[in-house]
Amino acid sequence: MSETLEVGGLTFIVRRSARRKTLGLTVDRGGESVIHCPESATADALACWARPKLLWVQGKRALKEQLAPPMREPEYVSGENFRYLGCNYRLTLLARQDEALRFEGQRFLMRKDATANGMAHFRRWYIDHGRPWIVERADWLSPRIGLAPAGVRLGDLGFRWGSCGKDQVLWFNWKSLQLPVRLIDYVIVHELAHLAEPNHSPAFWSVLERAMPDWQDRQETLRTQAQGLYWCHPGMRS
Ligand SMILES: [Zn+2]
Repeated sequence: MSETLEVGGLTFIVRRSARRKTLGLTVDRGGESVIHCPESATADALACWARPKLLWVQGKRALKEQLAPPMREPEYVSGENFRYLGCNYRLTLLARQDEALRFEGQRFLMRKDATANGMAHFRRWYIDHGRPWIVERADWLSPRIGLAPAGVRLGDLGFRWGSCGKDQVLWFNWKSLQLPVRLIDYVIVHELAHLAEPNHSPAFWSVLERAMPDWQDRQETLRTQAQGLYWCHPGMRS
C-alpha cells in the first residue's frame, strides 16, 4: 500500500517517516519518483515543494529509461509464443474469425486485422481468464496470513506486480499472469501480508517469512524473470 501524490501530471510515491525532519526526492531504478517526508507533511505542502522540481524529475526519469533494458513487445506474428501461468502457447493468425482473440486448447488464435491492437486484445484475454483464477488462488493462500482481502482485482499497475489499497482490496497487474504459479503465489502472498502490515517494515517481512519461508528465493527469481516477459517494465516490483 503506498500513498501517492499527483503533481503536474507526474505520480509520486510518498514515504512518510517519523524519524525524518526534511523533505527529499529520489528517482529509483524503475523510474519511480519518491518523496521522503516527515509523518505530518500535508499533501498541499508536498505538492508545493515538488512542483519546482518536476523538470529535474523528468530529466532523471529519461536517463533511467535510457539505461534500462527496453520493455519486450511481441510482434503478433504466427508462431510467436505467449505465456499464461508460466506455460508457452503459440499464436496463430487467421484471416477470418468472430473474436479478435481466442484460446483454443494449446494455442492462441488472433484475427489478422486485430494485430494492430494486439496488446489490448491480450490484456482483455488475461483479465477475463485470469480474474477467476487469481481470486481463487488468493482465497486459497489467504489462510497463510490469516486475513482475507475485501476484494481481488486485476488491472494496469505500471511498475507494480500488485498493490494493497487502504480499502483492503488487492490489485494485481494482469501482466503477472504470464509468470509461473510459484512466482504469482509470491506476489499474492506479498500483497496479503500488506493486509497485516501496510509498509515494508521489519514486521512486514517477518509476516511474509512466516507465510512463505522461501520468499527471498521467489523474489529473486521474479526479478530475473520479469525481463523475459512481454509488456513488463524492467524493475517491476511488489
Ligand atoms: Zn509490498
